[in-house]
Amino acid sequence: MIAKVIVDVPSRQTDRPFDYEVPQEWAGWIEIGSRVGVPFGGRVVQGFVISLAEWADVDRSKLKPIAELLDHTPPLSPDLIELAQWISDKYCCPLTIALQAMIPAALKGKAETTVTLVEDETEEQHGLFGIEGEWIDYIRRNGGTVRMTHLQERFPGDAGAIKAAIRDGQLLARVSIRDRMAVRKVLTVFPPVDREAAQEGLTQIPARAAKQRDVLKYMLGREEPAPMQLVVEEVPATASTVRSLAAKGFITIGEVEHDRDPYAGRDFTRTSPLPLTEGQQSVYNKIEGSLDAADPRVFLLHGVTGSGKTEVYLQAIQHCLQLGRQAIVLVPEISLTPQMVERFKGRFGNAVAVLHSRLSNGERYDEWRKIRERRAQVAVGARSAVFAPFERIGLIIIDEEHESSYKQEESPKYHARDVAVRRARQHHATVVLGSATPSLESFAAATRTGTGTDARAADLQEQEGLGAENALSSADKRESGRISGLLPMPDRVGGRPMPPVRLVDMREELREGNRSMFSRLLHEQLQQRLDRGEQSVLLLNRRGYSTFVMCRSCGYTALCPHCDISLTYHQKSRALRCHYCGHAESAPAKCPSCESEHIRFFGTGTQRVEEELSKLFPGIRVIRMDVDTTTEKGSHEKWLTLFGERKADVLLGTQMVAKGLDFPYVTLVGVIAADTSLHLPDFRAAEKTFQLLTQVAGRAGRHELPGEVIVQTYNPEHYAIVAAQQHDYSDFISHELEHRRFMAYPPFCRLVLVTLSHEQLPLLISVGEKLAAQLREMTAAAGVSDSGNGSRAFIDILGPVASPIPRMKDRYRFQCMIKYRGNVDAVGMLKQAMHLLAGKLGQPPVLISVDVDPQMIL
Ligand code: ADP
Ligand code: ZN
Ligand code: ZN
Repeated sequence: MIAKVIVDVPSRQTDRPFDYEVPQEWAGWIEIGSRVGVPFGGRVVQGFVISLAEWADVDRSKLKPIAELLDHTPPLSPDLIELAQWISDKYCCPLTIALQAMIPAALKGKAETTVTLVEDETEEQHGLFGIEGEWIDYIRRNGGTVRMTHLQERFPGDAGAIKAAIRDGQLLARVSIRDRMAVRKVLTVFPPVDREAAQEGLTQIPARAAKQRDVLKYMLGREEPAPMQLVVEEVPATASTVRSLAAKGFITIGEVEHDRDPYAGRDFTRTSPLPLTEGQQSVYNKIEGSLDAADPRVFLLHGVTGSGKTEVYLQAIQHCLQLGRQAIVLVPEISLTPQMVERFKGRFGNAVAVLHSRLSNGERYDEWRKIRERRAQVAVGARSAVFAPFERIGLIIIDEEHESSYKQEESPKYHARDVAVRRARQHHATVVLGSATPSLESFAAATRTGTGTDARAADLQEQEGLGAENALSSADKRESGRISGLLPMPDRVGGRPMPPVRLVDMREELREGNRSMFSRLLHEQLQQRLDRGEQSVLLLNRRGYSTFVMCRSCGYTALCPHCDISLTYHQKSRALRCHYCGHAESAPAKCPSCESEHIRFFGTGTQRVEEELSKLFPGIRVIRMDVDTTTEKGSHEKWLTLFGERKADVLLGTQMVAKGLDFPYVTLVGVIAADTSLHLPDFRAAEKTFQLLTQVAGRAGRHELPGEVIVQTYNPEHYAIVAAQQHDYSDFISHELEHRRFMAYPPFCRLVLVTLSHEQLPLLISVGEKLAAQLREMTAAAGVSDSGNGSRAFIDILGPVASPIPRMKDRYRFQCMIKYRGNVDAVGMLKQAMHLLAGKLGQPPVLISVDVDPQMIL
């Protein structure tokens, strides 16, 4: 039998299956999805079997056998391999990268050499081939086989002798793949089996071994085995005391396989299903209907903050489990707080596996094994949990579906939402995309099908005949499926009102002589909360690292005349640049609109806000949450717990404080500067701002106490801010759709971002230009007009221009943006163009990275 193997050597040349002979003895073990070690270019590398065949594509006699099989159960299943193939095609990345993304990092094996001593007894008597050394004793003591690296580290002076022994065949060197992480075994002490004998034993242990007596007493007091570490700590005693006691036969010591359960020892209060509200019930019924149906659907659940989406998820999962199928819940990394986890663990207990990036590699691996070994039926996790190795998925939920963190920013640059829809189709599973502020892409896709409730937005697209549908090529439509229903939940649970949002015009504040970052209203309201012993959340909106120019007197910001996105300020050259088209102008000294000199580039830090708070409100207790204070593992949780226990008056932070939090005493939410994300050079800037403001406003008044929101802004008339103030999604979406249609941005077209990088600028520019020219030639030949406006299908090649970060790690960066719509295979053309350029990329070659459907335009 022949195995087709994808080797873990990520490059375009090796991005194809290689044939290997399956050794006879493994014929029954090697399956599709098996992880193997194979000889490749003089090394042994890890690879995945993606198919098995009778015939080889090359001369059979030249085939090498698979060197080793790495797991008894394949870590990947055929459906995941097919999914990886899809990701590789759609997102233009080597298949091995897509496959690697699906398994825990612990299974990313590394080649390792072991050496085995070749000796037989007769020769041993003759002084061991005439060689000797401590290192030989070392190998013997370790059972005859050791890792080469151990030998090298321990006996650096013997390198020559060791090498010679390998050459002469006295040492056999073998290369194999070792996992970075193994199942964790914990040294465990077992209580006495014969308790009576042990009781008696207590009297026999001599007084000088009093410590052993303590250990025995301790173990007699336990029913359950205890980890050695615990025994040693609690008695207290040393491990050798425990061992001596075991040697006397009173207790036993052994190794026990342990899961590194990150939530071990935490009590999750069990909850039972709540009687659903009317709004929840009608949404739930639709989902239940789909779970029961043969032809499942993709729903967009549009529910305002506090409408009780999570309860709907929980009951839908319960139904799914009753049908004997499994469920995946994706939540943004940032909202994987204990609060969120508790809600799932509280309902489904140990059936829940949790996967997120703050777990150690070992913990992740153990959670993943729980899924694969069918000990868990629900996976809750960030983006990559979409690859949870379940066999019969019935339901995939994506909470906060609009979150940009669902897009992976490194290769494979997949979007978990699209992957989820695709995976659900493989399993005939239902998909629920939930959000208070659905992405424009999802909303447009949901309303196109005619089930939408937002007539205005649907009409707008209808009239223009340019629905999101038209932005998808027919192949994509087939692949990613369509959103077939919009499920609205417009009201909060218990009829609680949406919190009133007040806008403060910061230009006005300046005019009135207030130069502080706190408006008088916010200042006064914060004071009131302090007096009443209630809590406040303060959001400092600081997305990205870019700076933009804004006039503090009139709110003017500099926009690109061609692209209608904010220009970015470059301090060195004192210039304003557009990262889309390359337009540049010099930074103004005076505001072009009102002539004020209060024009400057923007950016404030949380630390500064914290200082200001302490100055204005002496004794105020502030918890600051930003990248600086949450790098340590568990710190995120720690801060939120403290805040939940009302040990602080104010929770101050960046985007982290906006999502998923549910604290009953939070009655004030303040947004320090709403505009910072409004002016990022990104066509999604308004959408992101609206989403953020809506999310953070949703943190207030979720329980008995009514809440209030104060938004400080320099653009109180901007539609994103006004719509957020009025909790009016449909007003926002109709404005924004109109704008996107006019400027031909998604969902009215699709984008591919191509970034090229190299140390030498002239070579980089020349390759960038060749690539753009090649693409233009191909699009012209394909007969696709590039005129854009008006025609239904188009493709437009923008650039090359310098990237927003023009130089990184001594490499210059240039980019091309491909904009297209309709039945155009842009990714296919790009692949072909790169193929044609393959030999002309210089030495070392220019690196080309492709981002399909990019989220970050910066
Ligand atoms: P969302 O996720 O839509 O913002 P949540 O699921 O957090 O909303 O629900 C908001 C609050 O309402 C939570 O405290 C939740 O426990 C409560 N809740 C949800 N559904 C019900 C229900 N059917 N009956 C009573 N309380 C509910
Ligand atoms: Zn521009
Ligand atoms: Zn001005």
